[in-house]
Order: sequence, then structure tokens, then C-alpha cells
Amino acid sequence: MEELNKSGHEPLTKKIQTGYRNFPMVPRVVFGRGSFSQLADILLPKRRNSDAPIIFLVDDFFEGKELQERIPWLFNDQIIFISADEEPKTEQVDALVSKIREEFDELPSGIVGIGGGTLLDLAKAVAIMLTNKGVAEQYQGWDLVEKPAIYHVGVPTISGTGAEVSRTTVLLSPDKKLGINSDYTTFDQVVLDPELTTTVPKDQWFYTGMDCFIHCIESLNGTYLNTFSQSYGEAALNLCKEVFLNGLHEEEAQDKLMMASWHGGMSIAYSQVGIAHAMSYGLSYALGIKHGIGNCLVFQHLSEFYHDGVVLFEQMLEKQQLVLPEGVCAHLSSAEFDAMISVALRMEPLWENALGRDWKKMITPEKLKSIYKKI
Ligand code: NAD
Ligand code: ZN
Repeated sequence: MEELNKSGHEPLTKKIQTGYRNFPMVPRVVFGRGSFSQLADILLPKRRNSDAPIIFLVDDFFEGKELQERIPWLFNDQIIFISADEEPKTEQVDALVSKIREEFDELPSGIVGIGGGTLLDLAKAVAIMLTNKGVAEQYQGWDLVEKPAIYHVGVPTISGTGAEVSRTTVLLSPDKKLGINSDYTTFDQVVLDPELTTTVPKDQWFYTGMDCFIHCIESLNGTYLNTFSQSYGEAALNLCKEVFLNGLHEEEAQDKLMMASWHGGMSIAYSQVGIAHAMSYGLSYALGIKHGIGNCLVFQHLSEFYHDGVVLFEQMLEKQQLVLPEGVCAHLSSAEFDAMISVALRMEPLWENALGRDWKKMITPEKLKSIYKKI
């Protein structure tokens, strides 16, 4: 199982023996400013009866805000507000599933995640764990989920991760950060309403947007690239350039970044991310640094691997008048560096995608330490 990569893509040797992967895609998607208002109509035919509620998992940023009033709850539906301050954890998923099972005699009619990658991943994981035995940690890996999840809907409120379209839900468990990658993870329905991203603070808008930009650079420069991935990656990259370099009108920028995120996610579905993601996983695991900013902190120092991408990244940072934090790894002990390095090096398919099958000859723990020390 370790041989499979994060998106479920098999290494080249296996591909020859077993053929190409057959990926699920999100079967239904609505796009448009204000389309969130259609959610009530979308959910109605999925409601089995009044005892089988819809559970809305919502970023607690929206508690008491206008969006809360617009959530189409009926009967004994539940709205659960959740903080996105920390990345989602397997125990958090297990606790939500227990709470839902205790409160309702029947399985819910559906789970709706409203928020960024954190809430989208929680919604996917809860939908899976409501129909599968045991605890979430057991399913971190590739294709371990046995039963279809319950109906689940994703409503992104910040753009970039591609979590709305991917077949993974990335979770922290006590000893790892790894996705539940499965055909049942993908959402049944996504609502893309760019208006919902209006309130995102500028720095967060940039960090999560750069997650998309880095997905494109790592996919387009990777050894796993095929025409399917390239076509989506190029579309997303062009949209990112327009959004972060061209000074678009706010609404146009919101619309375009939402579609960039979608295409960026599609691009890595059939290829893989690379070095910034592998090393950002280390930062996240050891220091709790969140995915978007973690990618930026690493990526700025990777010009030796992604020269043109890093030049563009610096132009975007300047155009957006943002400055990244410094000295993040300045006071780490040797043991902390070692922990980060070992998490990063475990992401083998990401390194293989970035540098080819002989990546171990090019990448050493000392090399990674020298990059981490610059952060
Ligand atoms: P997030 O969900 O962590 O949210 C970041 C911040 O933005 C939070 O403070 C949140 O409250 C705030 N926010 C979100 N929407 C807002 C809005 N409309 N207005 C104001 N504030 C808002 O952000 P993210 O970068 O989208 O997600 C990161 C997570 O996504 C990580 O846990 C990462 O592992 C995961 N991820 C998953 C995939 C996947 O394919 N499943 C891919 C990449 C990243
Ligand atoms: Zn990412």
C-alpha cells in the first residue's frame, strides 16, 4: 500500500501491470455568484424523512454572520460550528461521528461541509465514517474504505486547496498526517459560490490561493505528468497568474480563483504534488503550521527545483504587498529538525514525482535541513 501515492496514482512499474486508474469525479456541481441559495432545492430530494437529518458542518467564522441565516435547515437538521484554527484530526472525526450516532436513531440524509479545506475534509471524513466500522485512523492510506459514504456536499468559502474536487481527506492522527484516499471520499455535490469568499482576509486569501499555484507548478514540473493533468494544470496556472498579477476587479478575482482551485485539484488527481508539499507536511506535523502558509514558506526556497515558479511566486508576493514570516525554524532543536525531515522523506511518491525514481540519490536529510534552516 505504501507504494501508492497520495492521490491514489500508482507508480509507473505498477501502472504497466494493472492499467490506468479509474477516478471518480464530482458528479454534480453548480457554479455562480449567489448559487448558495440553491442549496435548499438541491438537498430536498435527498432528504429521506424528517428523522434523517442533514448535518451542516460549518466554519465557526460564520457563526452569527449572514450566511448562518441562509443555511437551509429543516426539521431536526443540525448545524455544527467548527473552528478551522487547527487542521482536522482523526479524533475530531471520531468524536463528531459518535455525537451524530448518539443523537439520531437513523443515519443522516447527508453531510454538508461549509468552509475551507479544513471543513471540507471534515465533512468528507465524517460522511465516510458514518457507514464504516472502527475509527478514522484505520482508513488513512489508499483505498482502505469498504463501504460508500453517506451523501455529502462541499461548499467552499475560500479558494485554493482543491479539496472540493479531490478524492482525499487529509487528516492528522497521533503519528501521521495522511489522507483517506478512496473512491468514496469525493463529494456527491459541490456548490461553487465565489461570493462566499468575499470575507477572507487578504493574507489567508493569498496563502490558500498559493496552495493552488503550487499544485500547478508541482504537477506541471513532475515526472508523473500526463496530458490529462497538464490540461487542467495549465488552465489553473493561467487563472492564478491573472488573479495574483493582473490586478483584477475583486469579483472577477474571486470567480477566477474558485475555478483555478477546481482545475488545480483536477490536475493533481492524475499526477501528484512535489517538494514544497512534502516539506510542508513536515512543518505541519512538527510545528502545527497550516498547509497554505507552510507551502509558501518552503516554496520560496526551492528555486533550484522550480526556478520559474519561484520567480512568479516572488512577483505575486510583491504585487500583493505581502511579506512572509521569517525565523520560523530558527530555534528548533536537532530532534525537531529530524522529526520534520523524517515526515517529509516519508512522502516518497511526492519526491518521485518531483525528481524521478532516483530521487534518493539527490535528496539527503542534510539537504532538507539546509532548506528548513532558511525558513
Ligand atoms: P482553512 O479551512 O484551514 O481556513 C483558513 C482560515 O480561513 C480559517 O481561519 C477559516 O476560518 C478562514 N476562512 C475560511 N473561509 C472564510 C471566509 N469566507 N471568510 C473569512 N474567513 C474564512 O483553509 P484552507 O487553506 O482552505 O484549508 C487548509 C486545509 O485543507 C488543510 O487542513 C489541508 O490539509 C487541507 N487540504 C486538503 C486537500 C484535499 O485534497 N483534501 C488539499 C489541500 C489542502
Ligand atoms: Zn496543497
